[in-house]
Amino acid sequence: MQCPVCEEELALRSYADLKLDQCGTCGGVWCDRGELQPVVHVLLKTGNIPAEGASTLHAARQEVDTDDRTKPCPRCQQMTESFNFAYDSNIYLNRCLACEGIWLDGGELRQVAAFIRKNSFEDS
Ligand SMILES: [Zn+2]
Ligand SMILES: [Zn+2]
Repeated sequence: MQCPVCEEELALRSYADLKLDQCGTCGGVWCDRGELQPVVHVLLKTGNIPAEGASTLHAARQEVDTDDRTKPCPRCQQMTESFNFAYDSNIYLNRCLACEGIWLDGGELRQVAAFIRKNSFEDS
């Protein structure tokens, strides 16, 4: 599979017992349908998440959102759709409308994990 951002070949990278396709150049990660949640749980367990929440990265995200709409799915080459993770996280991920896999730009996986951790702390 090719990275939809920089067209490099994606390499398999292990997250505990999960294997994800990751771009070594931009750090983007491809999650097949249903893979995002288990991967985020692994990240939460290992604790390898930056201290800052997702909000600090919001400003930087704005300029790339137009790019997001034109990213092709690395698995089936269909168009992906930009969506706001958990509706109000302001972390914009790309979901393939055909295979329902999710593309995360470099760093977005950690943003998602940080967002979930922050919100679960607030709930409890
Ligand atoms: Zn890349
Ligand atoms: Zn797809």
